[in-house]
Amino acid sequence: MSGPLYGAVEAGGTKFLCMVASGPQHIVAQERFDTATPSVVLPQVIEFFRQTIEQHGKLSGIGVGSFGPIDLNRNSPSYGYITATPKAHWSNIDLVGPLRKAFGVPVAFDTDVNAAAVGEHRWGAAQGLDTFIYLTIGTGIGGGGMVAGRVMHGLVHPEMGHMRVPRDAEVDPFTGACPFHGDCLEGLASGPAIEARWGKPATAFDANHPAWKLEADYLAQAIVNLVCTVSPQRVILGGGVMQQAFLLPMIRERVLSLLNNYVQSPAILSEIDSYVVAPGLGPQAGILGSLAMAME
Ligand code: ADP
Ligand code: ZN
Repeated sequence: MSGPLYGAVEAGGTKFLCMVASGPQHIVAQERFDTATPSVVLPQVIEFFRQTIEQHGKLSGIGVGSFGPIDLNRNSPSYGYITATPKAHWSNIDLVGPLRKAFGVPVAFDTDVNAAAVGEHRWGAAQGLDTFIYLTIGTGIGGGGMVAGRVMHGLVHPEMGHMRVPRDAEVDPFTGACPFHGDCLEGLASGPAIEARWGKPATAFDANHPAWKLEADYLAQAIVNLVCTVSPQRVILGGGVMQQAFLLPMIRERVLSLLNNYVQSPAILSEIDSYVVAPGLGPQAGILGSLAMAME
């Protein structure tokens, strides 16, 4: 027997993933919906859970990991909402309320990257660690993780994707795609930023294309900033753009070169291959992380 069933939702800028499972080895249903408008997707998500419950029985809880910004303040009237996102139609959208109303179970809610971090901590590349970073490089760039065993929250939640990284305008004249900041990290290195700079999607370039040297440089700068501020025991890089397998070794090399032997830990100096890593759960990190949040 496999224990109680939980629901999970990963709300992404491109796709919504839904799952019902009692653990990564016991998945009873899974579905993917395009991120159309809320009035289309949210009923699809609720219908998915309704049908699965009919077939397999009730859920003990639901976990939602969402693109942001989101409201995580439990005392706020807009707790559980996506707040002021640049994504059209998705500002001020209640994600938690409709699920709670439809199924009457506890709904855990966090950023997609904090969810992925919880999943990686429980089942993936961050097992046994208490301070680590999870970055996703996809439609947007987001970062989360744990510090001293606690999921990173604060005033709101980290917005690592919008940190500034130096851009040399002679090397990279592209002024950035972030509607708020232009050339912040997300504005320079997200999938859409790559496409806007080079006029073709990120999937179109081979390993030798200059797009990747630039990409590795911006991501390495961000990682170095995080190493210097958070002192993570590991940095996990997920998201669609990281599916280019040659990117990870390029980033590691650039991290070492930018740090220039300053942070004196063997974890970095001699074990960089296990310091900057892909998610142990692969593309399932986000959705399994939402499941882990529901269970916890
Ligand atoms: P989401 O942001 O919705 O969670 P993804 O993490 O898959 O989804 O990010 C989608 C972005 O990643 C798109 O901008 C796309 O261009 C880029 N992307 C997806 N697959 C690849 C790939 N194999 N190589 C490079 N870029 C990719
Ligand atoms: Zn920005």
